[in-house]
Amino acid sequence: NFSKAFLPATRGGSMDAPLVLTKRIDPKEVDGESHNVDACDHYPLRVYLGGLEYANPKDISKEIDNVDSRLGSPAQYEGIMFTHDTTDISAGPHVSSYNTIKSMSDKLDAQLELGRIIRAVDESDLAERILKTHFLRDIMGNLNSFSKQKLRCTKCGAKYRRMPLAGKCTVCGNSLNATIYEGSIKKYLEPSIRMCEEYDISEYTRQRVEVLNLFIKSTFGEPPQEQLDLSSFM
Ligand SMILES: [Zn+2]
Repeated sequence: NFSKAFLPATRGGSMDAPLVLTKRIDPKEVDGESHNVDACDHYPLRVYLGGLEYANPKDISKEIDNVDSRLGSPAQYEGIMFTHDTTDISAGPHVSSYNTIKSMSDKLDAQLELGRIIRAVDESDLAERILKTHFLRDIMGNLNSFSKQKLRCTKCGAKYRRMPLAGKCTVCGNSLNATIYEGSIKKYLEPSIRMCEEYDISEYTRQRVEVLNLFIKSTFGEPPQEQLDLSSFM
């Protein structure tokens, strides 16, 4: 009950579609990552000793029986073992704390706390990686789209590529709203600055956060100073 007419016309629409059926599966023709499956029923002592010596994993992997080393022999189809029995092959957590923890800053704290208590994890390196691969990219991306964003009229829904010279909707005269908000750009800024203070972050990454902070301040201005009364100091 299949027709090419059902496939989406968009790019990539036929990507996962079963357009070719193979009767015979040659393991060599299967995607390479499926060859990286261990096939042993236990790991040799050498693997654990190598772990103690911080050996190069490439040198140790030769000691481990995996599917890749069996390709081309009858063993590629049979006797593929495992190290631990289970009663249910799909056992495991159904929901991770990534789903149960709601706010982004709580997720961040939980991840960093885990890094702190696991001795094998260098928590400053972890913090730096979160900054480099996640937060900094997010802030830069949002800043970029902020400057290219469209404006929308709250009343009639008219969209504008840029703010009209009149400063308001040219159709109905109502005020215009941004579609990307200051908050979505700033949401990772505070935690990024905090991580730079609490962890041993490299000078380069530290300065990238600083420069982004300056950039954001020059775009949105400083937050208004709060008037303090005497009770704030008591
Ligand atoms: Zn309007």
